[in-house]
Amino acid sequence: MSVRVGILGATGAVGQRFIQLLDDHPTFELATVTASDDSAGKPYREAAKWRVDTPIPEDVADLTVRRTAAEDVPDDVDLLFSSLPSSVAEAVEPELAEAGFVISSNSSNERTADDVPLTIPEVNADHLDLIEVQRDERGWDGALIKNPNCSTITMVPTLAALDDFGLKRAHVSTLQAVSGAGYSGVTSMEIIDNVLPHIGGEEEKMETESRKLLGTFDGAAVTWHDVEVSASCNRVPSLDGHLENVFADLAERPSADEVADAMRSTEGLDLPSSPDRLIHVFGPDEPDRPQPRLDRMRGRGMQVSAGGIQETARGVKYNCLSHNTIRGAAGASVLNGELLVENGWV
Ligand code: NAP
Repeated sequence: MSVRVGILGATGAVGQRFIQLLDDHPTFELATVTASDDSAGKPYREAAKWRVDTPIPEDVADLTVRRTAAEDVPDDVDLLFSSLPSSVAEAVEPELAEAGFVISSNSSNERTADDVPLTIPEVNADHLDLIEVQRDERGWDGALIKNPNCSTITMVPTLAALDDFGLKRAHVSTLQAVSGAGYSGVTSMEIIDNVLPHIGGEEEKMETESRKLLGTFDGAAVTWHDVEVSASCNRVPSLDGHLENVFADLAERPSADEVADAMRSTEGLDLPSSPDRLIHVFGPDEPDRPQPRLDRMRGRGMQVSAGGIQETARGVKYNCLSHNTIRGAAGASVLNGELLVENGWV
C-alpha cells in the first residue's frame, strides 16, 4: 500500500528531517512540499539550506516548493505532515482539515484542545479515536492530530513507566539542543560558550502536554492525569538531542532496579518507525549516560534513553534523552502517520 504525503514547512529544521525519514519509507510516498511565499516556486534544492547529514534525495531536490495554502495542496495527497511555525499553522491547518486533508502536525497550536488527539503511539494510541469527536464537533472531513513538544516527548515515556508506582509529581530541568529552536532560532553569539536559562513557552508546554498524554480517554473526552509537573528549560550548545534531569515523587518506594525494569519493559509497536523498545535504560555501571552525542541516534533516533536512576526520599531521580528533531518532531509525526494508516483513518 502506498500513501501519498506532503510536508508543510518542508524547508526548515524539522521539514528536512521529514524528507530524510520519508526517503525509502515502506508506506509513504512524498508527493508535495510547501514553505513560505519566499520559497514558493523554487526547486526544493534552491529553497532549502540543507543541513541534514544525508544528501537531499534526488526526486525531492527537483520538486517545486508550493505555497502553504489549502488551494495549493493537490487533492490526491492522502496525508500531510506539518512543521510550520505555530502562528502560521493555527490559520492554515484548520482550513486544510476542513478541505478534507488529514494532518499529522508538530506545531504547538491546539495541542491541548479537547478534541485534538495528542499522541505518542507507544504511550496513548487509544487517544487517536478523538478524531471522531473532532469530526462531529467541527464538521471536518479531514482531521488534525498532534505530537507533543520535543522536551515533553523525551520525559513522558519515562513517566508512563512510573505510573504503576503512583506518580504524584515530576520536577524536570532540561538541557535542550540548539536545533530545537529551528534554523533562525538562536545565533552563535548567543549560544557559544553559554547557556540560556529560558525558552519561551517551553515550560508551560511540558507542564500541560504531559498531563494530557498521560490522561485517560473514555471514548468521548480525555481526563488529564493529575500529576503535577514543574519544568525549568535551558538551551545549551549541543546540536541535536535534549537531555533532561527528572525528579519524580511516587506514592510507592520502588528500588532503582524496579524502576529500570519498568522502563525497560516498554515495548515498541509493530509500526515501521517504532523502535523495538521505547526506552533504552543504562545501568549503574554507566552512570554518565545517556549523552546527546553518543545516544541521540539509538533506534534510528526514535528511542528514548534513560540512566542515572537513583532512589530519593520521595521517589526516584534519573536522566533521560531523545533526538529532538526525530523522536521529538519529524519522527514523532511520521509515527503518528503510521498509526493513522494502521487504524484506518487514512
Ligand atoms: P524552522 O527551521 O524555522 O522552519 C520553519 C518552516 O516553516 C520553513 O519551511 C519555513 O519556510 C516555513 N514557514 C515560515 N513562515 C511561513 C509562512 N508564513 N507560511 C508558510 N510557511 C512558512 O522551524 P522548525 O524548527 O523546523 O520548527 C517547525 C515547527 O515544528 C515549529 O512549530 C516548532 O515549534 C515545531 N517543533 C520543532 C522542533 C525542533 O526540534 N526544531 C521540535 C518539535 C516541534 P521558508 O524556508 O520558506 O521560510
